[in-house]
Amino acid sequence: MLTSLEAVQTCNVCGGGRVVYHRVYSGERLCRRCFVKTFEKRVLRTIARYGLLRMDDRVAVAVSGGKDSLSLLHVLRKIESKFPRAQLFAVTVDEGIEGYRDEALRLVEQYTSRLGVQLVKTSFKELFGMSLSEIVSSRTFRESGLAACSVCGPLRRKAINIAAKRAGATVVATAHTLDDVVQTYMLKALRGELGSSDIGLRSEGPAIPRVAPFRLTPEREVVFYAYTVGIPFQTQVCPNASTSMRNSVRRFLTEFEEKHPGSLFAALKSFEKPAQKNGKSQRFCRSCGDVTSRELCRVCEILQAVKPM
Ligand code: SF4
Repeated sequence: MLTSLEAVQTCNVCGGGRVVYHRVYSGERLCRRCFVKTFEKRVLRTIARYGLLRMDDRVAVAVSGGKDSLSLLHVLRKIESKFPRAQLFAVTVDEGIEGYRDEALRLVEQYTSRLGVQLVKTSFKELFGMSLSEIVSSRTFRESGLAACSVCGPLRRKAINIAAKRAGATVVATAHTLDDVVQTYMLKALRGELGSSDIGLRSEGPAIPRVAPFRLTPEREVVFYAYTVGIPFQTQVCPNASTSMRNSVRRFLTEFEEKHPGSLFAALKSFEKPAQKNGKSQRFCRSCGDVTSRELCRVCEILQAVKPM
């Protein structure tokens, strides 16, 4: 992340500390203390700029055990301590991915207990009657032509919403970074669904709002933050990750950002405006009543497709 010359330079902000991080898109060279400080300040500014959280919210932080979600929990825990009327808890979902999820769940349990944060757990098995491993090994799944991630993503979103609502949350905070948000806008554009919703911004309506306080924070800074403040996180990659459509978009955007620093911020700006203008009025799934852009929501479509015959 640093050249040998940068490593002996001093911080642009305080002028004293040894440089440990170079923000290429802004030109800032930061010492450890100023990196952490500016990182946390940006999260607070993002929350204020988009009105993501309110003073009296009961916030459910969706945690998976990865670097992004545990870093988000760490930062929001710090912020929450300054807002006495706000409450915060963590919610985690066991998708039932053999040989992968157990380590992540153990890390989530240990870290929430270290921070003194209540943890609410749920699972695909409990809510949908099948684990992800059971779904992907079924004949109906193989015949459906779906990828594991196309099933897992919507079911996990729904599971988090259900668990958060049951625990009395007024909002769900997810750890989607700038990279994730731009990837999602791009995927929506490629599917012709760009105008249907804003990603990670607070919306009014019957569904529990989902907000992304890291939407202005690049993923590589979240990784660096997690290492810098000593957050233990799962490094093993999900065995189904290579089947994700998102992977191709991620690869393209990461390469583009490396060649042209600042492109992700520029893309977000372009995507945000049309999406905010084009937002359609809400529709509701005819089966479960959840907010959706189609007649049947994605989760109900999936459950119908993979249901054992
Ligand atoms: Fe689920 Fe795919 Fe993520 Fe694995 S990589 S946890 S299957 S969405």
